[in-house]
Amino acid sequence: MRLVAYKQKNTLGPYRMGVVHHENVLDLQEAYRLYLLKRDQVDLANAIEHVLPSDLTSFFKLGEQSIQHAQVALNFAEEHDVSAISFLFHDVTLAPPVPNGAKVICIGTNYKNHVAEMKANIPEYPVLFSKFSNALIGANDDIQKSPYTEKLDYEGEFTVVIGKEASHVKKENALDYIAGYTIGNDISARDLQKRTPQWLQGKSLDKSTPIGPWIVTADELTDPSNVQIETYVNGEKRQSSNTKHLIFNIPTLIEFISSLITLQPGDVILTGTPDGVGFAMDPPQFLKADDTIRIEVAGVGVLENKVVDMETPDQ
Ligand code: MG
Repeated sequence: MRLVAYKQKNTLGPYRMGVVHHENVLDLQEAYRLYLLKRDQVDLANAIEHVLPSDLTSFFKLGEQSIQHAQVALNFAEEHDVSAISFLFHDVTLAPPVPNGAKVICIGTNYKNHVAEMKANIPEYPVLFSKFSNALIGANDDIQKSPYTEKLDYEGEFTVVIGKEASHVKKENALDYIAGYTIGNDISARDLQKRTPQWLQGKSLDKSTPIGPWIVTADELTDPSNVQIETYVNGEKRQSSNTKHLIFNIPTLIEFISSLITLQPGDVILTGTPDGVGFAMDPPQFLKADDTIRIEVAGVGVLENKVVDMETPDQ
C-alpha cells in the first residue's frame, strides 16, 4: 500500500489520508465508511472519525489499526465503484506524510563514502540531529532557498516511518515497529550548518525539506537492508548507493534511538545520505533557483522538487 496525505487542489481544509489505487488517490476514510455501510455497520460508520481518522495525527496515533483498516478499505475499493472518492494525482496536492508533532530524527555521516567525502570520522555512535516541522514540504512543493545561504545542498535519504510506540526495542524486533518507508531530501545549508558545532540552523530552514511522495507500507518492502537509492540534479546522476552500505543499519538505529527516546507512530527517521553531495564535488556545486532534485528509491518511488528563491519581507 502507498499511503498519502492529500487534499484536492484549490480547496481549503486539512489534508486527509489517502491510498494510491490504480494510480489515483482514494480517500481512505470515505472508502472505509462505504465498506461499513455495505455491511450494515451503521453505528461504526457514524463514528468513522474514531474508527479510521482522516487527519494524519489521529491516523498515526491509532498505529497498526489504521494500517489494517486502510488495507480493508483498499480491498473494498477493488470490488466497488469508488469513483466519487477517487482523485487524479493531477487534481491533488500532497503534504509530507508526517503528522503534526511527530519527531523528525536525522542521522548524520551514516555511509562510509559520505564520511570520507565530508572529511569526517567514522562515528562511534549514531550521529543524531533533528528538523522541526517548519522545514517539511510535500512532494509537489518547491524547496525554498533562503537568502541567508549561498551553499544549499541536497541529501537523498531512505526514510523510516514508525508504526507503533517504540521504547527499548531490541534489534531483532525493530522491523515490527515500522509502518513503512518514504523518501527524504535532507536539504542542508552548508555555510549555516558548519559555522557552529550544532548543525540545526543549517538543517531546519523554513520549507526546505521534501518528504514523500507517500509511505510504502512495510508489508511491501520487507528488506530495508538492500534498497537502491539514487539522486539526480537537473538530470545528472549525483548519488548512487544502497542501504546495505549504512554504517548503522535500520534495526541498530531503532534499538539505539528507542533506548534514549520513545518513538511514536508517525515519527520519521532520515537514515543518512550516501556520498555524492554537491559540497564534496570539485569544485563544489550548490543548488540555485530552478534546479530540480530527483531522488529515486527502489521499491518506494520518486521524490522530485524544484528550488525557488524564497521571498522575504525585506527584499
Ligand atoms: Mg542527512
